[in-house]
Amino acid sequence: MRRSNDVKDYIRTIVDFPHEGILFRDVTTLFADPRGFRMAIDQMLHPFAGERIDKVIGLEARGFILGGAIAHQLSVGFVPIRKKGKLPGTTISEEYTLEYGEAIMEIHDDAIQPGEKILVVDDLLATGGTAEASIKLIERLGGEIIACSFIIDLPELGGRKKIEDMGMNVQVLCE
Ligand code: 5GP
Repeated sequence: MRRSNDVKDYIRTIVDFPHEGILFRDVTTLFADPRGFRMAIDQMLHPFAGERIDKVIGLEARGFILGGAIAHQLSVGFVPIRKKGKLPGTTISEEYTLEYGEAIMEIHDDAIQPGEKILVVDDLLATGGTAEASIKLIERLGGEIIACSFIIDLPELGGRKKIEDMGMNVQVLCE
């Protein structure tokens, strides 16, 4: 167990994962540490003290771990947005561009009631493609997004700007 109050100190960097030339920011070391994990959840919740949030939406897969803990803390429901083909019920989908090729994110079509206030959660914002597709899904179902909250932003990849240009409040714990 570490003693630091800075989330960055709990995040490990893995060189050449998943391909050569990529520096992967590994948050499993943050999640595995009892102080680190609690601190990350507390810091992600802090900007929303006193605000109405009806649902937390987590993006596959590390957003499920963060989103579940945050939803429990707020005593609200949790909804997953998943990669294509994983959700069992009727879904709506949005395609987005990856570095090589395309991907599709899905949400159950009855997971949000129009007007519900939504907090979107994931571990890391890179190009913003995953978050952009997820925002479109939530808005198609009539959800009102209060904010999108991430542990890490990689500013050189421009995701934060892309999501802020969609009118979103973006919260990050570190860059
Ligand atoms: P984007 O769509 O913004 O380019 O990529 C963000 C998505 O890819 C997130 O769901 C995030 O979990 C994952 N991701 C991309 N790079 C990394 C990384 O270095 N570390 C972690 N933990 N996740 C990453």
